[in-house]
Amino acid sequence: MTLAHEAKQNLAATLCALIACLAPAHAAKPETRNRAEIPAEFRWDFSAIYPSWAAWEQAMQEMESRMDAFAKLKGTLAQGPAAVLKAYRDFDDIGKQQYLVYRYPQLQRDVDTRDQAMAGRFQRVGAVFAKFDTATSWFTPELLTVPQATMEKWIAETPALAPYRFTILDNYRQQAHVLDESGERLLSLASQFNRTPQAAYQELSTSDIKFPSVRLADGKDVLLSPGNYSALLENNPNQADRAKAAAAHVGAYGATANTYAALYNGIAQRNWFLAQARKFPSTLDAALDGNAVPRAVVQTLVDTTRAGTAPLQRYLRLKKKLLGLQEFHLYDNFVPVFRSDKTYPYEMAREAALVSMAPLGAEYAAKFRQFVSGGRIDVYENEGKKSGAYSAGVYGVGPYQLLNYNDTLDSMFTFAHEAGHAMHTVLSYENQPFVTSGYTIFVAEVASTTNERFLLEHLLGQTTDPKERFLLLQHSVQAIVNTFYTQVMFADFELQAHRLVEQGKPVTTEVLNTIYAGLLKTYYGDAVTPDDFYKFTWSRISHFFESPYYVYQYATCFASSAQLFDAMTRGSESQRKAATDRYLTLLKSGGNDHPMTQLKKAGVDLSQRATVQAVVDQMDLLVTRMEAEAAKLR
Ligand SMILES: [Zn+2]
Repeated sequence: MTLAHEAKQNLAATLCALIACLAPAHAAKPETRNRAEIPAEFRWDFSAIYPSWAAWEQAMQEMESRMDAFAKLKGTLAQGPAAVLKAYRDFDDIGKQQYLVYRYPQLQRDVDTRDQAMAGRFQRVGAVFAKFDTATSWFTPELLTVPQATMEKWIAETPALAPYRFTILDNYRQQAHVLDESGERLLSLASQFNRTPQAAYQELSTSDIKFPSVRLADGKDVLLSPGNYSALLENNPNQADRAKAAAAHVGAYGATANTYAALYNGIAQRNWFLAQARKFPSTLDAALDGNAVPRAVVQTLVDTTRAGTAPLQRYLRLKKKLLGLQEFHLYDNFVPVFRSDKTYPYEMAREAALVSMAPLGAEYAAKFRQFVSGGRIDVYENEGKKSGAYSAGVYGVGPYQLLNYNDTLDSMFTFAHEAGHAMHTVLSYENQPFVTSGYTIFVAEVASTTNERFLLEHLLGQTTDPKERFLLLQHSVQAIVNTFYTQVMFADFELQAHRLVEQGKPVTTEVLNTIYAGLLKTYYGDAVTPDDFYKFTWSRISHFFESPYYVYQYATCFASSAQLFDAMTRGSESQRKAATDRYLTLLKSGGNDHPMTQLKKAGVDLSQRATVQAVVDQMDLLVTRMEAEAAKLR
């Protein structure tokens, strides 16, 4: 049991003359960073979860006794459908309570991470959960001692078991890769040292790494920590400074590249060991089995994207031209073509998001209005608050959204993105029983990126200012670069490196550098002037070391939402209506099926090349629109 459904993302608009004129004056963000001085309507109200810490304490005790009682069900499952139903219902009751007791301290910790008492309570919850996980490890193996045919018969005869059908039968699907008791024991004994390459990577890339200082053209020395480095790439107008900084920053990883390569080889070898131990034909098959995604999905994604890099390269050439550069290097991609001092106060963003989602219907709009009406969105930054943005669900209560809203275009899109997650949670919770209320990452980013797209189109429809239109389009194009092209390139890297391991071939620094440099050439072509040091970039990508074969999901989500958006906004009114209904059904379906099946019902088939091609086509369209706006600015 996990609470991993919170999608923590920092992806990312302008306001419409119309709304600006009609709406009352919008207050800019508060000057203060003192939480107590920020108006309550912009802060979370925790009382919907528990009225007090005393109530939380009582719930903790209640939950622990429920957990103890659950452990006593061991040995009963084979007795019949009534015993299975009782176990699942008891497990649900515990699960629902877990959300409440976990979120209450977690959310309060996140708005003031300096509060040690809160951190302590949060750790206490974690310890109780871990104990429960260990105490229930018998559950799935015992369930699987009942033959599948018998279990299916029990489910058919017991209507109350119907909500659990998908979850129960999915255990049988995965049974082929579960080992006998001694095999499982052996693998569990290996689980600690399996994490060693990842732990060593974290130390090497964070605690032990020494970032250099460089002297810039103005004579100032800058230490190239990740924060300083990204700020420099974005703000320094001097290309030679950017070049120097990039070479030095990436070089800090390159300096210990042999160690990074040995660790990455360790990751890939471990993945291959586990895949073989569990009888999967490849590491990719092993990684995709949990969500029942066919391996062809990833291969089709990579192949179609490789063939669809033309609009990406056109975008980079356009930037090169507008920035007036002789050569365009990767370190030039972060300098804005135009700077805008236009601000987008939160209340404006909220109204714009609301209006933009009108195509999703009156019911969606009403629920959205309800969600944003107070207490569920922690809007502004304050001292000690966690950075970034996320949406976190509490079953039975609803979603909570964390923002650090700063009146920029980016923060407006971040709000719309997280609101997409939050509304997905609202619809899923309202329509699903607890057991299938959690959605997978594989569908989560569909809801968020679709809302961003609605916002973009709405804002473009409201402004005729070419500069503002260009910035809006650039924001969206950059999102496609970051969440689609870059992630597919990463997936491509992971596939190539793991294949070498599967074939028993060496994975060395030289090999990894060659793969990475080759990918840069394949994706950016001659739109980017190559720099040798970028071949070390793989060593900077923490996802490669911490969550292999994960990033492709950002790209498949993006492809799904591109296709869904097209279906909902093109064609006849009845076609649009039907597509919108299918989309809302997807959001309402939570986790009641495998994500590929859920998407298929919504009209998206990720095994088809055309689905991926929809993103390439969208990119092409947006870059064409950018070129048109840029021409007006001359
Ligand atoms: Zn997200």
